Amino acid sequence: MTYRAANGRYETMQYRHAGRSGLKLPIISLGLWQNFGGARDYPSAFEMLGAAFDAGITHFDLANNYGPPPGSAEELFGQVLARDFKPYRDELIVSSKAGYSMWEGPYGEWGSRKNLIASADQSLKRLGLDYVDIFYSHRFDPATPLEETMGALATLVAQGKTLYVGISNYPEAETRQAHAILKSLGVPCILHQPSYSILNRWIEDDKTVDACGELGIGMIAFSPLAQGVLSGKYNTGDTAGARGTSNNPFLKADNIKPETLEAVGKLAAIAKSRGQSLPQMALAWVLRRPEMTSALIGIRTPAQLHDNLGALNNLDFADEEIVAINAATTT
Ligand code: NDP
Repeated sequence: MTYRAANGRYETMQYRHAGRSGLKLPIISLGLWQNFGGARDYPSAFEMLGAAFDAGITHFDLANNYGPPPGSAEELFGQVLARDFKPYRDELIVSSKAGYSMWEGPYGEWGSRKNLIASADQSLKRLGLDYVDIFYSHRFDPATPLEETMGALATLVAQGKTLYVGISNYPEAETRQAHAILKSLGVPCILHQPSYSILNRWIEDDKTVDACGELGIGMIAFSPLAQGVLSGKYNTGDTAGARGTSNNPFLKADNIKPETLEAVGKLAAIAKSRGQSLPQMALAWVLRRPEMTSALIGIRTPAQLHDNLGALNNLDFADEEIVAINAATTT
């Protein structure tokens, strides 16, 4: 059956400008890092992707290496763009990235011009697109001059292969340098994509978030649910099929420490007192900061998507709630 996007899909989602750019993103965006690889069939993928778009999620985040296997998430999303999302390309913001290991040899990762340009071309082929909307340098490369990495991003804009550029995982000092170099090339750095959650506050500690606010760079937080730990599933044991039970290299079961679970238990009680689920509170907490353009979620099931969308119903925090959340996570 041909997909028709839901009428009224823009009625409940909220949109924020990415920094001082003209680009608006939904405050909840959807990433395809782990759950849309080779093991996922088209119907079950589209059940979630279509439901997301129907709820006003216009931004879908990818990278060269998403899968597993690497490349398969872009291939899957390419099929979706060619079929069900085909009439809606101009309502969608598709991003990709290069920087982590993608192919063998010295050019398959990091921040060289060779890597970024070749990888972007590969991503466009897999996605079946002439251009992506946002292209990121996926990580800072200490062994490549930042001028070269930023110059490659500017070239991709000049070639029409991306509309906007951003950086991901860059610490504060390198964020400032990247912004300045791009500015000198006439290309604004519109987004920074760091990890950020109640349990992971490195961007506050190293002041990257302040730098972005000052420079007008929007932020889109990845792993806002700490890869599912901030759902409480590792407290309750409701973990069938969960990322942390499958020997996943990015979330090993033995990495989920007892003190983390103790904090999550306290956070669940605070969420309950606010009348929302813990994932909903965790997303609202990320979005409480004005620098934060969007919270970038991953989902494995349609039910997780619907739960997360419920965050829109209560995004505000009383001062005492923020104090209680800080106390719950301070050991
Ligand atoms: P999350 O922190 O949102 O974790 C997603 C996982 O949380 C899901 O797979 C699921 O885990 C669980 N989950 C989500 N919603 C619920 C819910 N309502 N109830 C219970 N469990 C829930 O984000 P990700 O770590 O997946 O990252 C999101 C996106 O961020 C990626 O897809 C990617 O686009 C981007 N990213 C970017 C990186 C970068 O370096 N720039 C690195 C990592 C991610 P389970 O499967 O266990 O049920």
